Amino acid sequence: MQELNSIWLRIEGKGFTRMIEGSNGTYPITAALPLAEQPELNQSIAYFSMEIALSPNMPTYSGGLGVLAGDTLRSAADMGIPVVAVTLLHRKGYFRQYLDGSGWQTEDAEPWNYEGMLEPVGQVAAIILQNRPVMVRAWRFDVVGVTGHIVPVYLLDTDLDPNDPWDRHLTDHLYGGDSYYRLCQEAILGIGGGRILAALGYKPSVYHMNEGHASLLALGLLEDQLGSASEGGGPLTSATASDIDSVRRQCVFTTHTPVPAGHDQFGLDQMYQVLGEERGKALEHFGCLHNGLLNMTYVALRFSRYVNGVAMKHGEVSQQMFPEYPVHSITNGVHAATWASESFRKLFDRHFPEWRYDNFYLRSAIGIPPSEIAAAHLDSKRLLIREVASRTGVELREDVLTLGFARRVATYKRADLLFHDPERLMRIAHEAGGLQILYAGKSHPQDSLGKALIQRVFDAAARLNSDAIRIVYLENYEWDLGALLSNGVDVWLNTPMRPYEASGTSGMKAALNGVPSLSVLDGWWIEGCVEGATGWAIEDRDHEQAESASLYDKLESVVAPMYYQQPEAWAKMMQMCIAINGSFFNTHRMVGQYVSNAYFPDRSPRQQVELPEPAMV
Ligand SMILES: *Cc1c(COP(=O)(O)O)cnc(C)c1O
Repeated sequence: MQELNSIWLRIEGKGFTRMIEGSNGTYPITAALPLAEQPELNQSIAYFSMEIALSPNMPTYSGGLGVLAGDTLRSAADMGIPVVAVTLLHRKGYFRQYLDGSGWQTEDAEPWNYEGMLEPVGQVAAIILQNRPVMVRAWRFDVVGVTGHIVPVYLLDTDLDPNDPWDRHLTDHLYGGDSYYRLCQEAILGIGGGRILAALGYKPSVYHMNEGHASLLALGLLEDQLGSASEGGGPLTSATASDIDSVRRQCVFTTHTPVPAGHDQFGLDQMYQVLGEERGKALEHFGCLHNGLLNMTYVALRFSRYVNGVAMKHGEVSQQMFPEYPVHSITNGVHAATWASESFRKLFDRHFPEWRYDNFYLRSAIGIPPSEIAAAHLDSKRLLIREVASRTGVELREDVLTLGFARRVATYKRADLLFHDPERLMRIAHEAGGLQILYAGKSHPQDSLGKALIQRVFDAAARLNSDAIRIVYLENYEWDLGALLSNGVDVWLNTPMRPYEASGTSGMKAALNGVPSLSVLDGWWIEGCVEGATGWAIEDRDHEQAESASLYDKLESVVAPMYYQQPEAWAKMMQMCIAINGSFFNTHRMVGQYVSNAYFPDRSPRQQVELPEPAMV
């Protein structure tokens, strides 16, 4: 095991480097480059996220949060915004999902060829965790925008020789291990990530913490600003209000879920064991505990000058959860060029090629003949049907109304709401002329309720499958399958328990491809639903049975009749999905809002007008 020996300064030309000496070697904590030589490094927005979906063959994400992070960076690259991003390498990925005949999920690690896809960078940083030094290096991935602008992404890695054997595995598994492992990962992301950027010469003017996993970034910034006692400077606990304010001025925080379990909390013992005496005391001292636990959301709230939720409603709900802090809203989006199917990309290129640079041109879908939109959708549907056949042997029909439901299997998402009254569902399918329903989704390996939910869907499928109704659960939901499903089905179904769906983005991918949603009014759908024009609302009711009844009513009396009897009205609706929702629920619009409202509010006209603060509850 590696022991901490000492900390010393190495003086070099224009600056100095603080060094950590451990029993297995000596490491620089930071290595400053002369900044004047690289002015572009000074103007950056540094984006920190525990997961980022960078490419379909890189399993460095688990679901919506990672996809959103990737789409954000893809849009920033398209728009020429000076962003640099930090995440962990996740050398063994999230997990590959296997489902047996009863729908029971088992998992396997998903190692991937990072060496073939990433460039190693020379700089390293070191942090002290569990009272010993951990050396962190990075691998670089370039997100290249449509104009050639590059957003570099640094994936942190602790699998280095001098590190303690246990520490070498800290960047292996996304959301793996126990809470101790998770806290170590969050320290590497936040504190290690901040130091790697400094070592590379970046001088970001804004730090964006994407969800609370990245909160320790703020502590790291404070630590490096003071030069902490445990690493050769003044004690963290001696930070003054103005020290904290100078960190606050640089930090922006986005919270992503109103589900309490989604907000990381750690016991104080763990906090002290992993982060050490000084950081632990400082976190207590600065009000980062909540109900006697270290709460990562409170860390971020305490140290950020701008905080937002990810849809208008979610901002309001978060404001109620954290009444001491003003919470704004910026509604999520999707990267249009990533999630439009090939047939729609071609269609858009033909009608308004500028859409790739500026997604607002999608509004002009209003001028595309609906028949062309219907034809593009049929292409996507055929691709999906072919994929389902090759994966499962089930032959679906292209002329049958097809619903899609694919998401992380968490209980609040209620994957089984559609099966509340199986007899009624069967009757609807019979009378309408057939129904095909495609499911996909992973449950977190430790979520046994989620796993049981997958089995319930399997069970319903086994009982209902017949000539009138075909239900298929597709294994291992990930990027490519997500694209095929949201592009290729006829209706995107979403049935969360209100108000737990912070935003949801798969329905946005569907809308961009002309696919209407049938959804509970929660998250983005409150803003995107124009009844009968972009889809339909499952009405707000007090209990599950009444909500499922509303779902059946809509399906029976509106959705299925329109699909089977009014193909022209249906095609017109598909056009509206793109023109109204595709043109707005994209990450070009979203990144623009972050730039003017969150990153550089002083450059926006908002600053010239006195706006009332959002209501504090
Ligand atoms: C888009 C996407 C998600 C997020 O979908 P939600 O609607 O937010 O649940 C999750 N996983 C994959 C693979 C996706 O492509």
